[in-house]
Amino acid sequence: MPILNDCSMKTSLTLNDRSIELYQYPKEQQHNSWQAWDSADEYLIQHIDENGLLSAEKKIAIYNDDFGCLGCWYSSQDIQWFSDSYISLQAFEQNLRENALTAQTIRCVRSVDKPDKPLDLILIKIPKANALLEQQLIDLQSIVNNETIIIAAGKAQSIHKSTITLFERYLGPTTTSLAKKKSRLIFCQPVGDKKDDSPYPTVWQQESSSFKIHNLANVFSRQQLDIGARFFLQHLPSCDNLDVIDLGCGNGIIGLNILYKNHPKSLAFVDESIMAIESARLNIEVNLPEKANLASYTTSNCLSHITTHCGDLILCNPPFHQQNTITEHIAKQMFVDAKRALRARGELRVVCNRHLGYFNFIKKQFGNCRIIASNKKFNILSAIKKG
Ligand code: SAM
Repeated sequence: MPILNDCSMKTSLTLNDRSIELYQYPKEQQHNSWQAWDSADEYLIQHIDENGLLSAEKKIAIYNDDFGCLGCWYSSQDIQWFSDSYISLQAFEQNLRENALTAQTIRCVRSVDKPDKPLDLILIKIPKANALLEQQLIDLQSIVNNETIIIAAGKAQSIHKSTITLFERYLGPTTTSLAKKKSRLIFCQPVGDKKDDSPYPTVWQQESSSFKIHNLANVFSRQQLDIGARFFLQHLPSCDNLDVIDLGCGNGIIGLNILYKNHPKSLAFVDESIMAIESARLNIEVNLPEKANLASYTTSNCLSHITTHCGDLILCNPPFHQQNTITEHIAKQMFVDAKRALRARGELRVVCNRHLGYFNFIKKQFGNCRIIASNKKFNILSAIKKG
């Protein structure tokens, strides 16, 4: 994997005579076009400072802090820090270390767990999926009262009428700031007496099967089967007695179908989203309880947690974005990691958009690559690790 370092990229956030260093995760693989914070973080920090909203004893919650910018900036406060992303959590911990900041009063909370009372100030970065925001606002209903200050921040282009409607529906009256450097703040005044049931997990039935697919709020293809996955399901290999990995498993649809038709030695579900992993777990337990003992579940960045050659078959419908940015670099990292994690003669099988240059990339990595099926939109690629 080429390491994309660009020395000109800004890594120092300086505001109001204070500076911190912020990197993406892992720091060594900084992507050249990205910074680890954005103008919405800056706007939020400046607003809090200018309005004197924080004092030492205030308890705060931070949501969806991509690379830990807000968590680092406010690390001396009592913080509950919520994220659905394994990568965000690693980035936060890395950036705390980079700045020699301690995390004694910081509690990192998985997106599937609820906040604790009391909270004085709640800071929310607007996530890519409205559904994740909706789940988070529902989780906050039982925690807030009319004294809780809630401020959200995001790129103006990602704040829609539907975003404001969610705040008003679940918490209370909501206004927005003027745009500054293409970002906006959202101010919400909670009313404190609302209690809604969560619509998540959403459930859909897999066509021509009896599988009920459960999807927590932040899961890819939450409403229906992805069209790439649908094509992939028609071209899955047999894998009795093999160690199989469903890489970037989402709701686990690929691994579930593998487990149904085969008897692998093991099936490892891997994703960087906590809600994806919990959805996959739910889908195996509900639909194939008799084979649940074959499955394991790991949140990770690609296959960075695997250092040995332990897989015989890796199946992957790779992601095409990280947070709000479209990118091929995660897919490519997955292919590099797959080669490392496979045993000799093990197979990587991938479904991908035909226009992406993954065939050549995989061929270069593995020394071979075959198109085993294609339709108008997708290719199914297969590469074998040489002995
Ligand atoms: N396998 C599912 C399917 O076919 O419907 C989901 C495929 S979706 C295109 C790609 C998945 O990769 C998402 O669930 C996403 O959370 C996950 N992902 C994104 N970045 C990742 C990373 N760095 N490491 C592991 N998984 C990642």
